[in-house]
Amino acid sequence: MALINLAPETQSFIAKDKKLLIGSQWQDAGSAALIDVINPADGQRISGIGDASNADVEKAVAAARQAFESGPWPEMKPGERSRLIYQIADKMEAHAEELAQLETLDNGKPINFARGDVFASIGAIRYYAGWADKIHGSTHNINMPGDHHVYTIKEPVGVVALIVPWNYPLVMAAMKLGPALAAGCTAILKPAEDTSLSALRLGELMLEAGLPEGVLNIVTGYGHTVGSALINHPGIDKIAFTGSTATGKVIAHAAAEGLKKVSLELGGKSPNIIMADADLEKAIPASAMGIFFNSGQTCTAPSRLYVHEDVKDEVIKGIAEVGKSMKIAPGLDEESMMGPLVSAKQFERVTSYIEAGQKEGAEIAAGGVRHGEEGYFLEPTIIDQTNNEMTVVKEEIFGPVLVTQSFKTEEEALALANDTEYGLAGAVWTQDISTGHRMARKIKAGILGINTAMGADWDVPLGGYKQSGIGRENGREGLELYLNTKSVFTTL
Ligand code: NAD
Repeated sequence: MALINLAPETQSFIAKDKKLLIGSQWQDAGSAALIDVINPADGQRISGIGDASNADVEKAVAAARQAFESGPWPEMKPGERSRLIYQIADKMEAHAEELAQLETLDNGKPINFARGDVFASIGAIRYYAGWADKIHGSTHNINMPGDHHVYTIKEPVGVVALIVPWNYPLVMAAMKLGPALAAGCTAILKPAEDTSLSALRLGELMLEAGLPEGVLNIVTGYGHTVGSALINHPGIDKIAFTGSTATGKVIAHAAAEGLKKVSLELGGKSPNIIMADADLEKAIPASAMGIFFNSGQTCTAPSRLYVHEDVKDEVIKGIAEVGKSMKIAPGLDEESMMGPLVSAKQFERVTSYIEAGQKEGAEIAAGGVRHGEEGYFLEPTIIDQTNNEMTVVKEEIFGPVLVTQSFKTEEEALALANDTEYGLAGAVWTQDISTGHRMARKIKAGILGINTAMGADWDVPLGGYKQSGIGRENGREGLELYLNTKSVFTTL
């Protein structure tokens, strides 16, 4: 196993414990307390991040408020704001390898996938740089008597709290910062406590690109402390959250209490339906990659497989073979196809689900055990003989664990697929185009794949039905989350 050499910039970045970004100054957390940054490939400490306190959150919100009320950012000419966001994307591109290495060290994902994440993050920032000078209202011919000039203005919503998870740390931050900055908002970013490094490096790059004081603040720390202080703070106008459904509900309550605007990108347990006429040469490897990619820690992962009984054995055998052929290794190995789970806690969580499945009568058809002796690696796992009443089928496991069932008819497959409280994504495999589109319409989820199990792009709305969330990120809809509409009536 040959691990890539870390770039000198990566080494020097992790060599020092990290600070919080408040009002363009890097500051120690008020308590001076640190949270260890652990490399999930070997369980070793690689750095430390600040454990922010309520007082730090107060300072960050005050800095963002001041930047919004009296700083240049919201008033800046749109073309200028656009140019500055493009400069941020250029900076990220110039430091792409370093960002990818930080992501791999922190999250564990294979370096080639981390490079893909950096590409997607730059893409999102650049895409929204392009929107910054294309935001405008409309004029209206109205029905009231008299002569009127009526128009709408689009304004930034204000100070936004951006709370992101650990599975795609940089991508999630970029998907929120891009539209927030393009709209003219000022922000407080709270990365996940397990993976804050890439966000902190992004903060440095944004300052180097010339982002005015206080426009971006970054507070690191735990959800129940920093996150909770942010969502309950009266100085926050909007909360944008990506994370689990359980935390999403806590945030929805806090948002309701303060009548804050809120968007929620939450968990999923997405169905993947393979019909009898599917092209199995494509369906098998794509279904395997869909669930095993990023060690199954993907919100849209096709984690419930419903396969027609005629092809079930072939499909399960094929997916297990793809899993076996994947090189499981630390993310810094260029050939790694599957890295560790993000943390010891996540490893315990996933393995306890596997045990629960066995207790409920399901059978392990592949994997199910730890891989190697150090770090948090798990073999690609398939749990067969399941039914929709089992915990492993109902709940999001968020690991490389596929649960499988067979069906006889299209109606049965759809009923099984929709029998869930989630509604983030879904996929159907068939060579009949009508079947594909008909089923895509009937699956209650926000993102559907026909003959593909994965799909995401910064221009395409992403979000969930049911308990998978509220609102859509990406694309124009993602920008609208950060804008208020004001209607102006003038009597002529
Ligand atoms: P999580 O809900 O535990 O944490 C997410 C973030 O919220 C972290 O920054 C955490 O510190 C913070 N947080 C936790 N408790 C909080 C509280 N009480 N108040 C405020 N903030 C709090 O989720 P996770 O385990 O980090 O991420 C995995 C989850 O994210 C999965 O459920 C996954 O499906 C979901 N996810 C969804 C999408 C999507 O687009 N729908 C994308 C990626 C991940």
